Amino acid sequence: MNMCTILGHRLPTYCGEPVYGQVKPRAVDGIGRHHADVYADCDRCGTRYLVVKIHLPPPVDEAAIQLRNRNKELERELVETEKTVAALHTLLQKSMGHKDELKIEAALESGR
Ligand SMILES: [Zn+2]
Repeated sequence: MNMCTILGHRLPTYCGEPVYGQVKPRAVDGIGRHHADVYADCDRCGTRYLVVKIHLPPPVDEAAIQLRNRNKELERELVETEKTVAALHTLLQKSMGHKDELKIEAALESGR
């Protein structure tokens, strides 16, 4: 009688360490979970057998990563633009007198 019939199959090892199993994707369920089976070749009899069923992590969404990176770029550009505007405003204030500033403010107010 085969030992595996009595004891069950034995996980494969190499130099005492577990070896990699083979993952076979199965299905995506109604709530978006990805299911897969992990197979291995029995260390004792060599039969390929189902070791465990697993849930895979959600697949990496490349579009979401690109959007997140673009968002970070835009945030950096916004910070730089705000610094430039602040610097220009300071230069403008230094280059004109207080009366000129009031005239510009009045002109801007009437333009609204
Ligand atoms: Zn076996």
